Parts: sequence; C-alpha cells; structure tokens
Amino acid sequence: MRRIFSLCLLILLPALAACGGDEAAVRIKQFGGEDFMPMSAEDAAVIEAALADAVWLEENTDCLHDCVLLVDGEKLNYHADCGTFNGSQQSFSLSDDERAAVNAVLANYVPFPVWP
Ligand SMILES: [Zn+2]
Repeated sequence: MRRIFSLCLLILLPALAACGGDEAAVRIKQFGGEDFMPMSAEDAAVIEAALADAVWLEENTDCLHDCVLLVDGEKLNYHADCGTFNGSQQSFSLSDDERAAVNAVLANYVPFPVWP
C-alpha cells in the first residue's frame, strides 16, 4: 500500500509542476544553473516594465552575470551590480532606481547578488 502511494506521488508531482509553470511570461535561473523557474505574474511585471522602455545598444558589455532571464523566449543575461542586460549582440543598462527594483524582485528567485 505504501509503495503504491509513493508511486502515485512520483507520477503526480511532475504533472503538478508542469501545470504551474506554463503561464509564466518571465523565467529565471542562476547563471550556470540548470533549470529555469517561472516568475510570478507580479514579479514578471516589474521586469517587463523595466524592459519596456529599454534603449538597446547594438553590442554586448563584458559584464559578469548573476542570472539568466527568459523573456518571450529570448535569453537575457543580467548583472546585478551595474544593472545590465546582455542579449544576443545587444545590451541595455537600467537606471539606478530601476536596478534597485529589479534586483529586489530577482532576489526572490536566486541567491543574489552572486558577484559583488
Ligand atoms: Zn556589469
């Protein structure tokens, strides 16, 4: 009986996890980490607002990266210390106010900041 219960749990847990993550607009993982985690809608909104008025430079900075965001399928590396996003051949730096807001949200998901 106990064995059957464990077996059920094994089958159910991944199904539940998959259900919860489908709607996430923004996903996050620690730089070098394995799996992206879905961000809550509230937290994702902060990230999307910061990116909404971004003026991207057509080059990457040679930043360290604390985490990786997946926004609309695009991977963005992020450096908390200077508030810089690096995408494919593009980069964008946040204002000081935006950086503080974004870092506070990201700290809910990854140990932060990874680099001083
Ligand atoms: Zn940097």
